[in-house]
Amino acid sequence: MAIHALPDHIINQIAAGEVIERPASVVKELVENALDAGAAEIEIVTAGGGKGLIRVRDDGRGMSHADLETAVLRHHTSKLPGNDLKAIETLGFRGEALAAIGSVARLIVSSRLNGSDDAWSVSVENGKADPARPAALERGTVIEVSDLFFSTPARLKFLRSDRAESNAITDICRRLVLVAPTVGFTLTGEDRSLMRFRPATDASDRVHDVMGSQFAQSAIEIDAERGGVGIRGLVGLPTFSRANSLRQYFSVNDRPVRDRQLTGALNAAYADVMKRGRYPVAALGLSCDPAQVDINVHPAKAEIRFRDAGNVRALVIGSIREALSEAGIAPSRAATERTLSAFHGAAPTDKHANVQSASWKGWSAPAPLAGANGGFAEAEQAGLRVPQAGQTHLPIDQPPAAAVSTPPEAGPPDAADEFPLGAAMAHLHKNYIVTQSRDGLVIVDQHAAHERIVYERLKSAMAGEPVPRQILLIPEVVELDADDAGRLAERGAELAELGLILEPFGHGAILVTETPSLLGQIDIKAMVSAIADDLAEWDASSRLVEHLNQVAATMACYGSVRSGRILNTQEMNALLRDMEATPNAGQCNHGRPTFVELKLSDIERLFGRR
Ligand code: ADP
Ligand code: MG
Repeated sequence: MAIHALPDHIINQIAAGEVIERPASVVKELVENALDAGAAEIEIVTAGGGKGLIRVRDDGRGMSHADLETAVLRHHTSKLPGNDLKAIETLGFRGEALAAIGSVARLIVSSRLNGSDDAWSVSVENGKADPARPAALERGTVIEVSDLFFSTPARLKFLRSDRAESNAITDICRRLVLVAPTVGFTLTGEDRSLMRFRPATDASDRVHDVMGSQFAQSAIEIDAERGGVGIRGLVGLPTFSRANSLRQYFSVNDRPVRDRQLTGALNAAYADVMKRGRYPVAALGLSCDPAQVDINVHPAKAEIRFRDAGNVRALVIGSIREALSEAGIAPSRAATERTLSAFHGAAPTDKHANVQSASWKGWSAPAPLAGANGGFAEAEQAGLRVPQAGQTHLPIDQPPAAAVSTPPEAGPPDAADEFPLGAAMAHLHKNYIVTQSRDGLVIVDQHAAHERIVYERLKSAMAGEPVPRQILLIPEVVELDADDAGRLAERGAELAELGLILEPFGHGAILVTETPSLLGQIDIKAMVSAIADDLAEWDASSRLVEHLNQVAATMACYGSVRSGRILNTQEMNALLRDMEATPNAGQCNHGRPTFVELKLSDIERLFGRR
């Protein structure tokens, strides 16, 4: 077969496939162009999930007649004045987007150069542009894209439903809206409900608008620097998690990016405080010398490479972990709101609910809540102290019988004022501790709280010396299926490091002789078979330490004060003081809250006193 050169329009279609993958990619490129043109207001209209129509209007600097005609040519750009790829200050720089769109859709670009008397319009179809014609346009640029992928039916077939495509457009817009806080955005069209973002004065106001007030109230601030790279933004408390990673927004030097390393580091920072399958919510912006990062990895410019990826990972994980543990027992405002709306018997408050108009009557309408601060700030306002190291810590090798320590005297009345979690007043339904705190009441889930305390202690024990063990008077035989027994026996040495000593005991059974003493008296059979389940899930070649947190979490779960045990006041207060002294005590190992807090003002609301 003879080799021949591909015709230009085919070359363009092939190249276009890399830039324009789906309707959302068109929106991304057009909005980026509008931002690069210095727009103050951008309007995005879509129909049919963007397959039918995408129109982006901006009030930026516009294009001259001559520029308009070259703008739609491949590799034509105004954005690399010095032709220097190392000094990119704009979102675009490859000069590909308009050409790519023109080769896979019908494209009409109309524009009026700032200060010019007339506006012009260019139409492109199948990669062929007509000469510019006069147009009616006050200012800025309007770009209209219709019948996307009509010339490449194969690509059209791979698109998802209109609804899914229009959601993808919303998502990409959110990412861009976050990096341009001072620009006003309107997203509208027949396939969606109107979204409007007013120009904001600072980035955190914009984050609140985009992420919603529930997030704002359950988030902590990140502001750190390491090796010339800065990180700023908000991350959600572990109790404010999602079932997928869609609400994780990253930008690098004000460019929205989707980067596996960054999301990996974010998730790793929460590994300890969040159940598998739950994902943290975050809006984080990184900044660094542009020379530290290569954005020219992929035509869509969403992937990046950091020169020092290790430093960036350490920065993300370190700054978030530190902020989380500083936030300590800051309650999640979301948990409080859920509690309140449960009292009201109504759905959680709408994020656009007007905070001032607490004009609800009767039981039907949920009262929207004030309190615009993040959880930590709120905790501080309420006088909650961050627990200091060494505060009422139990010795690691406490006698196993005492599942809860005997406390230094910490009962009412002083404890209510003195301690963040207040003084225990009642023990309800064998699992809930109700306390009076300085300005409200706290309800603690005793099981969840104890699980966290044991887990953290297990971890710190493992980080240092070998875990203290207790010898069982009568070793326990655990019957399992042969595979499970085999796997446990194989991991015997590693489990011993965690304080669990076991040996094979004939076919399909193992013998447990020693257990970690800090677990106290436990249901050994249940714990060992839960660990066997964990092992079955993991690759046989991976070291157990790689799954240390999970093993510790499983152990902690069986070593915890199971709900159902009645505690006296001393024991309850001891548990509260332990919580205050334990890192990450605001949530159990699965990311569920260990306590909820109602402020007096919340309670007054419940009774219509406010
Ligand atoms: P790039 O953005 O990489 O330069 P594009 O194909 O997206 O490539 O755009 C080509 C050129 O068209 C840009 O460099 C810019 O000069 C001009 N342009 C595109 N969109 C706009 C707009 N909305 N306002 C002003 N100029 C624009
Ligand atoms: Mg562009």
